[in-house]
Amino acid sequence: MQGPNEVPFRFGPPVAVTTCSIMFQDITTLLLDPQAFRDTIDLFVERYKGKNISVVAGIEARGFIFGPPIALAIGAKFVPLRKPKKLPGEVISEEYVLEYGRDCLQMHVGAVEPGDRALVVDDLIATGGTLCAAMNLLERVGAQVVECACVIELPDLKGRERLHGKPLYVLVESH
Ligand code: IMP
Repeated sequence: MQGPNEVPFRFGPPVAVTTCSIMFQDITTLLLDPQAFRDTIDLFVERYKGKNISVVAGIEARGFIFGPPIALAIGAKFVPLRKPKKLPGEVISEEYVLEYGRDCLQMHVGAVEPGDRALVVDDLIATGGTLCAAMNLLERVGAQVVECACVIELPDLKGRERLHGKPLYVLVESH
C-alpha cells in the first residue's frame, strides 16, 4: 500500500470475522517501527507547524496515539474527544449515526474556546461520520476547524464528502 506521500510502512493483515470478511486497517504495526512512526508524525508536523493551530483534538482511541506528539511539536494544546462516560468533568456531547447504530463523542466544557484554531486527528476515515461529529463538537463551542488529518483513508466509502467541505489530509489511501 502506498499513499500520496509514499510513507514506507505496512499495515496489519485483514481480520476475518465469522459472517463476513472485513478489512481492518491496523496501525499498531506502524507503531512497532520507531522510524516509520517518527516519519508519520514528522509529515503531519511539517504540514501544520506555523499554521497558528491552537488545539489538536484527538478522537478516541487511536487519535490519542497520533494527536499528542503533533500537538507538542507544533505548540498546541491537546484535547481528547472521548466516548461517553469517560471524561470526569462537565461535557458536551455529539451523537452520530454509524452503519449499524449510533455512537457519541464528548469533550470537556472549557477545553476548547471560541476562536481556537483546531486540527482534528484520527487514525482512519471510513464513512466520515466520526470526523463529522468531532467537527460539530468543536464548531459548537466556537472553534474554527482548520483541517482534519488521518493516517489512512478508505476513499471508496466517500467519507470526505461528509466533512462539509473542510479539508482532509491523509498519508495513505487504502482501496
Ligand atoms: P467512520 O466514522 O466510518 O469514518 O469510521 C472512522 C472511525 O472508526 C475511526 O475512529 C477509526 O478509528 C475507526 N475505524 C473504522 N474502520 C477502521 C479500520 O479499518 N481500522 C481502524 N479503525 C477503523
